[in-house]
Amino acid sequence: MSDSPVLKYISAGAWSLVEPLISQRAKTLLSTLIEFMENDVLPSEKLFHAQIPTDSPEARWASVPPILEELKDKAKQKGLWNLWLSGGDFQGMAGGQGGGLSNLEYAVMAETMGHSAILAPQATNCSAPDTGNMEVLARYGTSKQKDKYLVPLLKGEIRSSFAMTEYGVASSDATNIRNTTALPSSNSGKLIVKGHKWWITGAGDPRNAIHIVLAMTDPQNPSPHKRHSLVLVEPRLQGVKVVRPLTVFGYDDAPEGHCEVVYDGVEIDVESGVVGGRAGLGKGFEIIQARLGPGRLHHCMRTIGIASRALDILLQRVSDPNRKTFGKYLREHGTVIADIAHSRAEIDSARLLVLAAARRIDIAGAKGAMQDIGIAKFTVPSMALKVIDRAMQVHGAEGISQDTPLAYYYASLRTLRYADGPDEVHIQQIGKNELKRVEKLNQKSAKINKESDKLLRENGKVKAKL
Ligand SMILES: Cc1cc2nc3c(=O)[nH]c(=O)nc-3n(C[C@H](O)[C@H](O)[C@H](O)COP(=O)(O)OP(=O)(O)OC[C@H]3O[C@@H](n4cnc5c(N)ncnc54)[C@H](O)[C@@H]3O)c2cc1C
Repeated sequence: MSDSPVLKYISAGAWSLVEPLISQRAKTLLSTLIEFMENDVLPSEKLFHAQIPTDSPEARWASVPPILEELKDKAKQKGLWNLWLSGGDFQGMAGGQGGGLSNLEYAVMAETMGHSAILAPQATNCSAPDTGNMEVLARYGTSKQKDKYLVPLLKGEIRSSFAMTEYGVASSDATNIRNTTALPSSNSGKLIVKGHKWWITGAGDPRNAIHIVLAMTDPQNPSPHKRHSLVLVEPRLQGVKVVRPLTVFGYDDAPEGHCEVVYDGVEIDVESGVVGGRAGLGKGFEIIQARLGPGRLHHCMRTIGIASRALDILLQRVSDPNRKTFGKYLREHGTVIADIAHSRAEIDSARLLVLAAARRIDIAGAKGAMQDIGIAKFTVPSMALKVIDRAMQVHGAEGISQDTPLAYYYASLRTLRYADGPDEVHIQQIGKNELKRVEKLNQKSAKINKESDKLLRENGKVKAKL
């Protein structure tokens, strides 16, 4: 174990807990992934950024950096493809085209990929929002929808968007989604999609071939959870308008982007255009709940890797002999040492939460793991932001500039406190779940009190201090 390359990435303690649950095949794949990261992905990051045009705003959205396609080819050859696609029935639904790993095995892989979160997930076809969208199509799509959209997504030939958040609507409460409708046209019987979404990741990408859109299809249904369906809208269709890319602290994330999108009377067929065909009408909520569980955890897995990389960058900076202050290396100042120790402890604690949630998905499915996923969802991004903030601080002003990757890490991870549901919504749910334990706690206390009063009486005592 001591010479395992994974120990450069995760703590020996965490590895010793999970190693017995990791198959030999996954261990071999992990070693291959680490080699791929160090020999191919990390050295390509600067070129990737350099290949995104800076001359005109339009050019930024017109092409994809060629290095990415080269890395995708290499990843496929090495078997590092669709690693996120877990085993079991899901493999069958996806035509056996995935990695077939357990969620726990994938957690270790995804953390490793987080060391190059901009490139590694895309290079291995493991990036959001495609992974969640492939999952939706694999689980709920008709066979024609799978052939048309799932197969090219699995091959990495196209990209996709998931369009839920609405302009002007508080979308963290999904029952609010109302400005996008897909209602039958009186003359053709087709559904006409109308709506205004924003923050739609990937909608700017020239490879994008499908938007999965949450739309109201039955506004009068008495159950607010049966009013919506997921509809499939191809961005090439008449009526789809990508209005503008939004920026995150000034970053536009070209060529993928997070875009404002208007659907202005787009015509779709019920059987081919509703996820699951006619049988999928009214199932929007059910499907989005299933989609978001593992996806939220995938973000957390990668985030641990990003935080670890920020700590690595911090360690190097504070050990740089050219950066001494007051006659000392930065690492010799007590506050810096404390920052390092806190960062190490926080990353290692957060990793355990993520690994536990991944293991829980393997045992109890995404629904059974909701509590563990929810806790990871609202704790891991904030932990990583703290670590990155410390790393930026030791760099002085340079830390918030474009000359280190730290500012971009900070911007992109800050978005995870909203994306897939803001922290507060998860915090509220976990708090409510905890409160459900009170009745049993009261019963347990009553039983213990009864026994302790009996013990006091038997020993001739009436009162005790606690
Ligand atoms: C970079 C990025 C990418 C994104 N990609 C996508 C995408 O691909 N597809 C998509 O559909 N959406 C996407 N989103 C949107 C994201 O999912 C939403 O921003 C999020 O769900 C919150 O919805 P909202 O912005 O409408 O905020 P609102 O619903 O208006 O909420 C505003 C704030 O209210 C507070 N709040 C809400 N509920 C509670 C509560 N119960 N208790 C206390 N406070 C509460 C929270 O602080 C919350 O941030 C993306 C967002 C970002 C930043």
